[in-house]
Amino acid sequence: MRYVRFQVGTHVAYGVLGGDVVREITAPPYGAYKVTDRTHKLSEVKLLAPIVPGKIVAIGLNYKSHLGNREAPKVPEGFYKTPTSVIGTEEPVRIPQAALQEKVHMQPEGEMVFIMGKRAKNVKKAEALSYVLGYTCGNDVSARDWQRNDLQWWRAKSSDTFSPMGPVIVTDLDPSKMQLICRINGKVVQEQSTGDLVHDVPAIIEFISSAITLEPGDAIYTGTPGAPGDIHPGDVVEVEISGIGVLRNPIEAE
Ligand code: MG
Repeated sequence: MRYVRFQVGTHVAYGVLGGDVVREITAPPYGAYKVTDRTHKLSEVKLLAPIVPGKIVAIGLNYKSHLGNREAPKVPEGFYKTPTSVIGTEEPVRIPQAALQEKVHMQPEGEMVFIMGKRAKNVKKAEALSYVLGYTCGNDVSARDWQRNDLQWWRAKSSDTFSPMGPVIVTDLDPSKMQLICRINGKVVQEQSTGDLVHDVPAIIEFISSAITLEPGDAIYTGTPGAPGDIHPGDVVEVEISGIGVLRNPIEAE
């Protein structure tokens, strides 16, 4: 299944995507929705972020290629991103005025994101994937100097527009066999298989759910490979994952 969230005029709804036709559903895709007979051409809707997450957990330092000379964490190292930082495909990432004035280095982080389908608490690895609704592309936009110099990552990782997600949520994929690519202005800057995650999706769910309850619709960013390089107003960032599609966001100044 391919799930989208979209807008037509002022009407916002979830839908299932088949070919280039969006068919509205009556509730979020993790709920007991009904499929309606209302359809739209994909080209006639504005795609929104495919989910409205209650919370977002992001895993840091989760590919060897991103570690440099740092040790791989023994457990998945999570931090929170705010739901208010979420945007969809084609929406602009706006670099905050304060970051521009301070000449903060801004970087994209192409990441595979999974969306929870069921409430999860103390879930073991062996059952973990049955709690996942599906997978989408994410960009964990990062203000590096704030990340390095602030005591917490609250604005470095969660300023408005810093969490692009989309374009669709795809179910029934193998999260250990996706090819993840990030491009800046068409040039590949990150390319890695999700099979190279230090802590894979089941391990992440087991560890997070041992401490906090994951709710349906919650989004988990799984980490980024390599070293993506800087972005500036006027650039375009694309995150592409095999089997899902392309998340595309222009970069603007606030
Ligand atoms: Mg990240």
